[in-house]
Amino acid sequence: MPSNRRALLAAATTALTATPAVLAATAAHPPPPRHTHPPPHPTTARAALAELLAGNRRYAAGRSRHPHEERARRQVLAAEQHPFAVVVGCIDSRVPPELVFDQGLGDLLCTRTAGQVLDKAVLGSIQYGVAELRIPLVLVLGHERCGAVAATLEYLRTGAPVPGHLALLVDGIAPAALRTRTARGDWADHTARAHTVRVRDAIRADPAFASAEVAAAWFDLDTGRVALLP
Ligand SMILES: [Zn+2]
Repeated sequence: MPSNRRALLAAATTALTATPAVLAATAAHPPPPRHTHPPPHPTTARAALAELLAGNRRYAAGRSRHPHEERARRQVLAAEQHPFAVVVGCIDSRVPPELVFDQGLGDLLCTRTAGQVLDKAVLGSIQYGVAELRIPLVLVLGHERCGAVAATLEYLRTGAPVPGHLALLVDGIAPAALRTRTARGDWADHTARAHTVRVRDAIRADPAFASAEVAAAWFDLDTGRVALLP
């Protein structure tokens, strides 16, 4: 008898002789989905950045794949996660990292504050990703026409008192605004870019994140494209 036929017969015999208890246990714990391992994901900063930029090219071209949203992926991730990049971005509704980089469940660990301003909770969250989840890349993502930057410039222009918790944002963005105030061109654009680089440099200089590469990038609302900042 061919071996595959023997195996089939053995399986059928096992099924026929299974006790009610075994059958009940099988019903209560259905077999795991066929894909029991997450698909391969980047394990180096260089590969992680390449994956993000490739996903953004798909997004900007209107060819997003919306990967890793399927039920099987969700079930695998229920046990553990291995995101490959930390994205430190703005809360702006037009810049959701998973969409901008065409990634899905379990791919990115995102912290989002207005103007991607850092505070202790954000730093702790980044450290969780880098130290506990061993994520190789931290990407700071600034963007065009940032409302938090515009508000900061308005307070600096008018000298009006900054209400309540907004002071944290204005204090975080003001150094970049003051540094670019006399530069030729669009003050808001200069400020947003300089601030994004400043946030990157602050994370890069922090020994808590020494194991990760830290990069800064810029999102263009008009084209949907992300470009690395020098
Ligand atoms: Zn913003």
